[in-house]
Amino acid sequence: MTGKAPLRIVFLGPPGAGKGTQAVLTSGKAGIPHISTGEMMRAAVQSGSDLGARVKQFLDRGELVPDDLMIEVIRDRLSRSDCRGGFLLDGFPRTVVQAQALDGLLSEMRMPLSHVISLDVPEDILLERIRKRGESSGRSDDSVEVASRRLKVYWELTAPVSEFYRGSKRLCALDGLGSVEDVQKRISGALGI
Ligand code: AMP
Repeated sequence: MTGKAPLRIVFLGPPGAGKGTQAVLTSGKAGIPHISTGEMMRAAVQSGSDLGARVKQFLDRGELVPDDLMIEVIRDRLSRSDCRGGFLLDGFPRTVVQAQALDGLLSEMRMPLSHVISLDVPEDILLERIRKRGESSGRSDDSVEVASRRLKVYWELTAPVSEFYRGSKRLCALDGLGSVEDVQKRISGALGI
């Protein structure tokens, strides 16, 4: 088989950066599964599963689900056969502990990351976007208060994940401002797709 090397991508970016939208477009274009841990968590809560019961309180408060639980969830998901040809992670890793665990897991599975993409957007614009999203969507974690907490959690726990990847020279930081199409072009260019 010839074919290109699998794209194994991590998407990083603060809440409100448009990460979810870009992740859907990019995974569709690349033909790889879009793995959104936020969506997985919301689905678990809705289905009333055991996992859902364990994570609900964290989602409702805009706090992070504990690392060990998230790492187990992602280990299961990446073991599925649809990830063999690549994957796009959206919302994981969210802490440096998760990033280290992901490196360990992927090296065990012999499928290291090919790209780490961060979407950078200034904080005042993020707050504005979060407010608007809170008004228009019914997401329980999208009230302005919870959204502000999510942003705070981001700066405290998730921003260091970018530094973790910058330190190992794997980070590709892109400007997240502009239209959906503009940002998508930047991402496609960085991935060569
Ligand atoms: P998201 O849609 O990615 O913003 O995720 C929604 C919520 O799911 C977050 O506020 C967390 O409570 C939880 N969550 C999603 N991904 C993670 C993760 N990698 N680590 C911890 N909690 C997470």
